[in-house]
Amino acid sequence: MATQDEVGIGDFVLLDEITIEKFMENLKRRFQGGKIYTYIGEVCVSVNPYRTMNIYGPQQISQYKGREIFENPPHIFAIADAAHREMKQQGRDTCIVISGESGSGKTEASKIIMKYIAAVTNVGGQQEIERVKNVLLQSNSILEAFGNAKTNRNDNSSRFGKYMDINFDFKGDPIGGHINNYLLEKSRVILQQPGERNFHSFYQLLCGASDSELRTYLLSRDPSTFHYTCQGNVSKVEAISDRSDYKSVVAAFKTLGFAQEETETIWKIVAAILHLGNIQFSSSGDDSKPAIEGVHKAAALLAVTPQDLSKALSERVIAARGEVMQKTHTVSEAEYGRDALAKAVYDRLFTWIVDKVNKALDPASKSDRKFKTGTVIGVLDIYGFEIFDNNNFEQFCINYCNEKLQQLFIELVLKQEQEEYMREGIEWQNIEYFNNQIICDLVEQPHKGIIAILDEACLNVGKVTDEMVLEAMDKKLTNHKHFTSRQLSPMDKALRHKEEFRIRHYAGDVVYTIIGFLDKNKDLLFQDFKRLLFNSGNKVISSMWPEGAVDITKTTKRPLTAGTLFKNSIIELVKILKSKEPYYVRCIKPNEEKSPVLFGDERVRHQVCYLGLLENVRVRRAGFAHRQRYDKFLKRYKMISQFTWPNFHAGSDKDGTRVLIDELRFSSDVRYGHTKIFIRSPRTLFALEKARNEI
Ligand code: ATP
Ligand code: MG
Repeated sequence: MATQDEVGIGDFVLLDEITIEKFMENLKRRFQGGKIYTYIGEVCVSVNPYRTMNIYGPQQISQYKGREIFENPPHIFAIADAAHREMKQQGRDTCIVISGESGSGKTEASKIIMKYIAAVTNVGGQQEIERVKNVLLQSNSILEAFGNAKTNRNDNSSRFGKYMDINFDFKGDPIGGHINNYLLEKSRVILQQPGERNFHSFYQLLCGASDSELRTYLLSRDPSTFHYTCQGNVSKVEAISDRSDYKSVVAAFKTLGFAQEETETIWKIVAAILHLGNIQFSSSGDDSKPAIEGVHKAAALLAVTPQDLSKALSERVIAARGEVMQKTHTVSEAEYGRDALAKAVYDRLFTWIVDKVNKALDPASKSDRKFKTGTVIGVLDIYGFEIFDNNNFEQFCINYCNEKLQQLFIELVLKQEQEEYMREGIEWQNIEYFNNQIICDLVEQPHKGIIAILDEACLNVGKVTDEMVLEAMDKKLTNHKHFTSRQLSPMDKALRHKEEFRIRHYAGDVVYTIIGFLDKNKDLLFQDFKRLLFNSGNKVISSMWPEGAVDITKTTKRPLTAGTLFKNSIIELVKILKSKEPYYVRCIKPNEEKSPVLFGDERVRHQVCYLGLLENVRVRRAGFAHRQRYDKFLKRYKMISQFTWPNFHAGSDKDGTRVLIDELRFSSDVRYGHTKIFIRSPRTLFALEKARNEI
């Protein structure tokens, strides 16, 4: 339990009644009193303060360093310290899972954790470790430039999932790391909603590059002149300086060891995408013809000939029965191809950058030290549950990912409790909770799951439409408790169109439109484009497209679909997390207005419910509100009893604990495990704390 910091209760487990009302009351009181962190046992609930908090400085760092969670008021530092201590002392890998909806503060939390770890390590001041820490911290600005964007929910929204391992040596100092990235929202490259922007990188280049750099990239400075950066009608974000961010990113590229040529190619690709977006096609008869200017600029930056680019944009080479033929695109096919190319080029660039960052972080690359034997702390900052007015394939993937993480949370939190009781020889009764396995199955099951049904449709050679995919789902999922569609329940008011279906997620109902699912799942890029880029005169670009080397007449294996790739990567992620000792940070967004004072009751209540926080408190309390090792318990409370103060000499710490508890008449409320005392009621704990404070 946390020491009381006088605003409400620092640990929800200690609420005298576990109801949503009491929970909300406490959370609100603490938020309004400037306390943004509250525990549920060892889970840290964090409410986005939307203002700079003066709680992350050197004084707080030393206050939390090396301390147990309950010794200080709730703070994310305590979680970071616990994960680091556990790893260092027990030699176990740990991970910190940060979850919450868009704008709730996940990325900020992950950065605070990384900065804390950087601050408490390398007391010896070794140069190499300082370098690693610097690289770890600077990698953030690169990833955010290329993977974050202004959305209507968050000015700096991460549009990709990120899992980062930090590797430590036996002394507990960071020696490297590794980043896994998940599903970048690449549709943003070509399409932005009103009020939203493309990825920051585009604006950084336009605002931050010098005039001569801009000339190199054949750009004009104004984002409103490019189709891919003007749709949302906001090119400037108040809280963001694209100009200075550009400088930080360029500096970070340098720190991470990107070669000059590589950095230049990165910006050339970004610029080429802007030019691609401005290419218009005019029809000549049934065929399409791209306008010359954009083609010339994009081609120059991608180091391909304008003729080759123009050709790849306006026609396709197809192989049928061993013969190679040309098929000319219609205008809409050509536009589709141009956008597909822009998305693919950006997505490939992002993955390539992450790979490069990983090379800079790779601890195994330093062969002079036995780095591989170290332990790791994983930090997961991944998109939260999303419900928009229009929910597409991306939301479907993101929400599936959240189902998996919720499943893991339930499993680990329950499992940990159970294991602890068993280890300590304490009786344990299972408690009821909603098991969302059924929803995970709905999405991922072989043959019957939604991804399998989609994949089957993608395999079909005939003309398959999105509507046909939905019909196939209707057939296979007719009686599924968590799935319905307009076809299956025509009277359902939530389903407005026949293309819609609804999944009853653990976090709430989400209506998805099937339109676009097939296309996004197939995620096809014409071979012509791959060949074009493989043949680029720029080595860096060419290396990003190795599959362009494949001979068109050779039948190649069908690539895995986007849905299946995503599913596999999430299953793999869950496996990684399961192998580590988990710590949780659950982030909450207090309001939509980015206000430091507003606490939107309804919005917060909804988040508390779907994050399963109340269940979490119940699970934690089902058995015992608090447990503590005998030596620590005695150290904390021994002054309360004359028999244990200043020291207990008549037996073990366990005996001493027993004497103290007996004297205070709390025996009926506690159980004695092998190494720990278990206290059932929070009241007992309150009483102990009170007695201690009154001495
Ligand atoms: P997304 O899922 O969209 O990526 P997120 O959960 O990562 O969202 P953040 O980008 O971390 O959200 O936070 C959104 C904004 O909230 C930040 O840009 C910052 O202004 C503010 N914020 C979040 N956490 C804190 C904090 N601890 N202190 C001060 N401001 C914060
Ligand atoms: Mg984020």
